[in-house]
Amino acid sequence: MEILITSHHIADLKTHLTQLKNKGLKIGFVPTMGALHAGHISLVDRAKKDCDTVVVSIFVNPTQFNNASDLASYPRQEEKDIQTLKENGCDIVFLPSAEEIYPPGYDSITIDLDPIENTMEGAHRPGHFNGVVNVVSRLFKIIGPHIAYFGRKDFQQVAVIKEMVKQLQFDIKIATVETKRDPNGLAMSSRNLRLSEQQKEEATILSQVLKKGKSWANTYSPYQTREKMKTYLSESSLELEYLQIVHPEDLTDLNQYWVEGATACIAAFCGDVRLIDNMELVEYT
Ligand code: AMP
Repeated sequence: MEILITSHHIADLKTHLTQLKNKGLKIGFVPTMGALHAGHISLVDRAKKDCDTVVVSIFVNPTQFNNASDLASYPRQEEKDIQTLKENGCDIVFLPSAEEIYPPGYDSITIDLDPIENTMEGAHRPGHFNGVVNVVSRLFKIIGPHIAYFGRKDFQQVAVIKEMVKQLQFDIKIATVETKRDPNGLAMSSRNLRLSEQQKEEATILSQVLKKGKSWANTYSPYQTREKMKTYLSESSLELEYLQIVHPEDLTDLNQYWVEGATACIAAFCGDVRLIDNMELVEYT
């Protein structure tokens, strides 16, 4: 029989997890904002392979939204998500309220994430990563997992979290899971729920241009590859916000020379839905 424990309260969850840890069990943690899809479940699957107990949090974190209407329109489907997690072998789902995560007078932390933070998502969504750092560090302190799982789909987020773990000296391993895509290449995202069928089709241009970029990288410099990708995208109905080819660790722009792990990252609007995607253009040898 499948048993899924749902917890709304930090104190209850901590007590339960302490008991499990005292038994020597390995805890895996998958933080999410809900509206779960197969991309999230691939993180749960990986956590199940590595760990004894899998905790998934669902919390639409207000501090990482720099746009009130984006926060208001973010899809929410708690009951369905709980059922999905039950069916997929998650052990504990943590559903805190904003008041529990951010009690009145809570201490907000600020860490220096330069140069990782000040580009791409960080540049276009001021305060976003400060919100991510605040919520993930709080969740890490509550849950204290051995391993935490993040999707490569949010490429810059992974770099930010790794730097945060280093700076705040968390004893937590960060595991990255490949981007899960629809059969037509569209990266799965909770925001895809807001796309019409036609828009979903149009949005496949993102994965197409990333694949093109990967083949152009064999012939052209990063700068030339980026320009060709931009030209290709300019013929689509999507409105490009940024397209950058970056170093995989410090996320600085590459122009003249390729490095292993060089990654192209894109943000674009499909109608009023903001989508992101990325791909490694140069593989590690
Ligand atoms: P979110 O609910 O959007 O905050 O995402 C929760 C976690 O799932 C993050 O670590 C995301 O990077 C990851 N994730 C979201 N979409 C995908 C996807 N298509 N493939 C793999 N991981 C994903």
